[in-house]
Amino acid sequence: MVQHTDRQKQSINTDESIENVTFGFRDIPQIEKMMQQEDIASFITILSQPIVATLIREQTEQFRSHLKNGEGFTLKQLENQILQSLRHAAQQRLQPVINATGIMIHTNLGRAPIPVDVWRQAEDNVCRYSNLELNLAQGTRGNRMGLLPSLLNELCGSPASLLVNNNAAALTLMLMALAQGKEVLVSRGEQVQIGGGFRIPTILACSGAKLCDVGTTNITTVDDYLAAVTENTAAVLLVHTSNYFIQGFTSQPDIRELVSRLPEHVEVWVDQGSGNQESWLPGERSVAWYLDQGVDLVCFSTDKMLNSTQGGVIVGRQKPIELMAKHPLMRAFRPGKTVYALLEAQLIQRLNQQDEGQDRLQQLPHRPLDWHLARAQRLCAGLNSEFTPIKARCLVGGGTTPRKQFPTYAVRLPNWHSAADWLERLRLAKTPVIAVSQKKSALLFPISLLEGEFSEVNAILKQEMDLCSQ
Ligand SMILES: *Cc1c(COP(=O)(O)O)cnc(C)c1O
Repeated sequence: MVQHTDRQKQSINTDESIENVTFGFRDIPQIEKMMQQEDIASFITILSQPIVATLIREQTEQFRSHLKNGEGFTLKQLENQILQSLRHAAQQRLQPVINATGIMIHTNLGRAPIPVDVWRQAEDNVCRYSNLELNLAQGTRGNRMGLLPSLLNELCGSPASLLVNNNAAALTLMLMALAQGKEVLVSRGEQVQIGGGFRIPTILACSGAKLCDVGTTNITTVDDYLAAVTENTAAVLLVHTSNYFIQGFTSQPDIRELVSRLPEHVEVWVDQGSGNQESWLPGERSVAWYLDQGVDLVCFSTDKMLNSTQGGVIVGRQKPIELMAKHPLMRAFRPGKTVYALLEAQLIQRLNQQDEGQDRLQQLPHRPLDWHLARAQRLCAGLNSEFTPIKARCLVGGGTTPRKQFPTYAVRLPNWHSAADWLERLRLAKTPVIAVSQKKSALLFPISLLEGEFSEVNAILKQEMDLCSQ
């Protein structure tokens, strides 16, 4: 089919007027032939046969139109052009990259890496049939949530819980199921945008809840909330300002006091964001802490501090959670089996304190600087002294502690190339290495590398060193 249309085009194009101006026009090889060329053929497994054919055709068409305009070209140029477009397309494929940014949970790099043993445990549930919606004890239709609510309740100290596709969906479901047509009070200091396109006022507007501004950007008090309450108020929504902070003359309400002074009909909901469960992160409140203060519902992502795959959790009081679980939109927000399989396996490891991903994060504030230095030296093994370990600061990321940075060591790369050139060269490595530029230098942060990645990065740097000393 594909080849047929191509031949048609060719026969249309080879009319006389064109032939007269275009020398070499017939020399353009057939797409089939080009596909067999070794360097082009190697892209078939990466991109699929039809996509390779389409890209070859696009480039060939372009050269045809150059010919029509009387411009000459060599076959080599055409081939190079084709290879470039194939490489460009291949870069769009999802692939592993090495995170050397010093940001442990990086939204652009897929957030939390899932531990391989968790993946292996989940594998059977995904690659074979499973009891996803089958009650094995009774042989009847079962509930997708399975053991997950028990695990989540245990982890968060919550009476009930619900899993949806991500935290944005969790918040949307909460607002649609419980606050449609009603007022939701949000502090002016918490009407934030998080990442790409997640804006609190927009989510409220989409869900049909009415946003009521409370307090000011820097100061919001319990009395401000109380003064804004009407008979039609459904809830106060507290939002973690994940990616920024206000410094100086600021004040937030005491949450226990807020909960106790609000009238009965007004609930308190928290978009906690990161899913942080423990108090090891200075200044960060855990999910359980909020529940302990008496808030009604807390929602968070599962691919941030929980180190799992993309998902959104709502924990809190039984009744509103049941209402959300029964809401028609729940059908649209429910995750697939891969998410259940991965999250279940990870939570069990977590509750048994065997979660290595969790350790990776939690150990961060406790490692002595020498430990960080040793990692930097490991990365520099066999390299010349122009690769220098320097003191630097790293971040947990994932919408946690925007103001808390942890001391670590980074490797400063030699000034053989500009920082921008280093970043590009490393990005184009076989496994792309994502470095950062600080004060005009390119830096690699060993802290965010996974254990198995040191030798690979070291080899790339050695290669660069050899190239430059030639
Ligand atoms: C990350 C974050 C979100 C968005 O969560 P997703 O799981 O990416 O949808 C919402 N609110 C807060 C406070 C966040 O930190």
